[in-house]
Amino acid sequence: MSFYDIWQQLDWTGLQQAITESTPADVERALYRERRDLADFAALISVAAEPFLPQMAAEAERLTRQRFGQGVSMYLPLYLTNLCANDCSYCGFSMSNKLKRKVLDEEEVRAECTVIQQMGYQNLLLVTGEHETKGGMDYFRRMLPVVKPYVSYLMMEVQPLATEEYQELIELGLDAVMVYQETYHQATYAEHHLRGKKQDMRWRMETPDRLGAAGIDKIGLGALLGLADWRTDSLMLAHHLEYLRKRYWTSRYSMSFPRLRPCTGGFNPGHPMSDRQLVQLICAWRLLDPELELSLSTRESAEFRDGVIPLGITSVSAGSSTQPGGYVRPQQELEQFAIHDERPAQRVARSIRDAGLEVIWREASARDWSR
Ligand code: SF4
Repeated sequence: MSFYDIWQQLDWTGLQQAITESTPADVERALYRERRDLADFAALISVAAEPFLPQMAAEAERLTRQRFGQGVSMYLPLYLTNLCANDCSYCGFSMSNKLKRKVLDEEEVRAECTVIQQMGYQNLLLVTGEHETKGGMDYFRRMLPVVKPYVSYLMMEVQPLATEEYQELIELGLDAVMVYQETYHQATYAEHHLRGKKQDMRWRMETPDRLGAAGIDKIGLGALLGLADWRTDSLMLAHHLEYLRKRYWTSRYSMSFPRLRPCTGGFNPGHPMSDRQLVQLICAWRLLDPELELSLSTRESAEFRDGVIPLGITSVSAGSSTQPGGYVRPQQELEQFAIHDERPAQRVARSIRDAGLEVIWREASARDWSR
């Protein structure tokens, strides 16, 4: 039994209808409840909730300060390789794109880590395309010991792995894994994943189960906003999170909000999401789950991030490069997508402090508590 079995029972059209049929009275009820359930979440992400955005934002901010205090954690992605054996219609790393490919070796990774350390970062997200032979377990076994001395909290966003492989990486210092389902809509998933192992929707959807079974400290979830109807995908994701929280309750959870951006290959999202709708979604997640960590990357603009961080965001990246080797020697032709907030890390940190919040450069890991 995994979430895949539950997902098979969920009806996309029925969930979509529940959201569409939400009324202002449902939204008001959801807003003023002490603890909220999935029906409340459906109301809060509906069109009917749009006029209630100021109330939602105030409640989201209150809950965030109550649970997380003033702290906002800063992390940086380190792209190890842009090699990928998949073809995803929306991604610059797709194997069919004519892109210069690179896999960092030990020396190059050390050089990147030195620059990243000088930027002030101790929370690092290792990112790769999905390539079993040149960017698989053998490569991770070699690279994690290289990276670990520079980092206090180590996260990965790579291809889905087996439970035993996650256990092995946890032994090598891995704290968290981000794995986004992209979409829970089966036909849309098939339409946008054209080649490679990522076509296996079940293997991807069961990844958080394998991470929970491996005993990872944190599991990062998300849907690629813009691929299918973002409201229904978010409600599916809320079902997924509820299942995971009950089953793997020792892990922490984070939610990311990747909105589709232009990339090599020129992809235009079929279901674009406005800034206001993204704010609504972020607030709705906070209202549903006050413990959930909410993360916002440099895909979003400086103005947008400055406005929304105080409402509920608990971790941000800044000064990011989406190319392998990009911190030592930037080469635009290697990158996955163009970032939107181009401010250096220290400028973003200053904006966070100016908003009355506190910057956390070193996130505590479960290992810190068990010492
Ligand atoms: S989204 Fe991931 S799997 Fe798909 S092409 Fe890009 S890097 Fe590869």
